[in-house]
Amino acid sequence: MSGRMPALVNYGREPLSVELREVNIPEIGEKDVLLRVGAVSICGSELHQWRGTHSWPVNYPCILGHEFAGTIEKAGSGVKKFKEGDRVVSETAAVIDETSPLSRAGLYNLDPTRKGFGYGVDGAMTEYVRVPERCLHTIPESLPFHKAALTEPCCVAYNAVCVNGRVRPGDTVLVLGPGPIGLLCAKMAKLSGAGHLIVAGLPQDRDRLAVARQLGADAVLEGGVAEYIPSVGDGLGVDLAIDASGASVTLQTALRVVRPAGQIVKVGWGPQPIQFSLDPLVQKNITLSGSFSHNWPIWERVISMLVSGQLDLDPVISRVCDLAHWHECFEKMEAGEYVKAVLKT
Ligand SMILES: [Zn+2]
Repeated sequence: MSGRMPALVNYGREPLSVELREVNIPEIGEKDVLLRVGAVSICGSELHQWRGTHSWPVNYPCILGHEFAGTIEKAGSGVKKFKEGDRVVSETAAVIDETSPLSRAGLYNLDPTRKGFGYGVDGAMTEYVRVPERCLHTIPESLPFHKAALTEPCCVAYNAVCVNGRVRPGDTVLVLGPGPIGLLCAKMAKLSGAGHLIVAGLPQDRDRLAVARQLGADAVLEGGVAEYIPSVGDGLGVDLAIDASGASVTLQTALRVVRPAGQIVKVGWGPQPIQFSLDPLVQKNITLSGSFSHNWPIWERVISMLVSGQLDLDPVISRVCDLAHWHECFEKMEAGEYVKAVLKT
């Protein structure tokens, strides 16, 4: 297939180096499919690439978009399990070394040579994207593309809360940062049986904290976390704190309010150096874990949650619109007015 298509391209390191351009429809290899994009959702990381505030290398010029679902337009000759017309979602690890020890252990998401869609290779904010068969998962007709596109951030939250974190029924769980990932972490904590679930943000997060309520939060806070937590339960602190904010300083709050022998999972990126002591980590015997991306079994589990309706995304999808309206969506997501915006191409 040849021809041209509109694509949202991040073309340089300077702030605001993102624009719609006409590009060639990609060629595919033997083990790839050409995916006709049904929907692609906007990630907070793309807002950083748009503003030039990201801390990862980008292979400019690069088409944005790593949260996507669509239909297989064409399958390479070596593609075994998928065929033209199949409805699928795609994982994000577009390039990996399949022989690396991490890939062999199923942790290809942590392979140091990994390159993702939207920064390492061309992504899905366009009509057609080249995807290796290895990345694909089947989705049923009953799951619409605009919801399936959010499988990826749901997998990030699942990994943070349900794999790297541990929630037992009745646990007190605190989520710091009500961005899309924080809100989805809150939902995963509630589904895991969290007893008292607290979501904390800032006064400007009011809209997103209202969404946290819809997702099952028992308390939402516009600040004042350290003052509130001693009033909960036995007063010793939360069993699990999920740090999903984009600032390093919230880790200090987490260390302060987690109970002795409790756990902190850090899923939010914060490039700023920390300016505080980690002594509470030692004194309180806290387990601190990072959590990055996701792998195959997580995807299968999240897809089944979306299909069954156990995971309802209606509260977090604020807008579904055409790719041409990308700029409005980027601005309103950045302002916290939209939780998630989904683009159709
Ligand atoms: Zn993302």
